[in-house]
Amino acid sequence: MRILISNDDGIHAKGLEALRQNICGLGDVFVVAPDRERSATGHGITVDRPLRIKEVHYKEKNTHGWAVDGTPADCVKLAVEDLLPGKPDLVLAGINIGPNLGTDVLYSGTVSAAIEGLINGIPSIAFSLACHHCEPDFSNAGPLVAEFLPQVMRHSIPPNTLININIPSGKPKGFKVTRLGSRRYVNIFHKREDPRGRIYYWMAGEPMELDKDTSGTDVKAVEEGYISITPIKIDLTDYKTLDMMKEWNL
Ligand code: MN
Repeated sequence: MRILISNDDGIHAKGLEALRQNICGLGDVFVVAPDRERSATGHGITVDRPLRIKEVHYKEKNTHGWAVDGTPADCVKLAVEDLLPGKPDLVLAGINIGPNLGTDVLYSGTVSAAIEGLINGIPSIAFSLACHHCEPDFSNAGPLVAEFLPQVMRHSIPPNTLININIPSGKPKGFKVTRLGSRRYVNIFHKREDPRGRIYYWMAGEPMELDKDTSGTDVKAVEEGYISITPIKIDLTDYKTLDMMKEWNL
């Protein structure tokens, strides 16, 4: 089996290493990841400059790596189109430092790496450690991924669907299959003045849950200490409204 790994925290991130070390027994591993942190770059791609690559060497013989000075989507695109000896059987993204829950998946570089895998017709899974203001500890998450993968492979992921997984910090209570929660951020911008008297803004903010009923959401599962597993489709078409609009006589 040929496995492609990417992330948005950069090729030297602890979470990517935890993922790589725990799955390197499952097949040939190819790491193609940004050369620096590119979190929250969503599905951005680089078209206004060339992309540079640098080979990264691992001691395991079945592992090859390249750092790319682009986004997660760039990395997966480049891996599939040129760097790998053939199409990967599986794309894994992460393990991200920090959660990728609810609406946040739209901003996530980690989830976007998996989306790029999906666009290329490859089963893809995104992993995140749902640890906000704590020292990230992958000692539970890494082995959990290795345990989980063969189970998923047995069931096979439907085409056009990716799996988004959030692992709580500490020892999880178990797995929950969830839907994406709905959240937006409040108090986002910190307005400050620079030493030359010019105003600048720094984006931060705290998530506010918009769901009246949070039962079954990824946010709730992680809050309760469970590993959240959400199947995500990238077809954003609203078919119900599409049918309704056919009656509009435009
Ligand atoms: Mn990240």
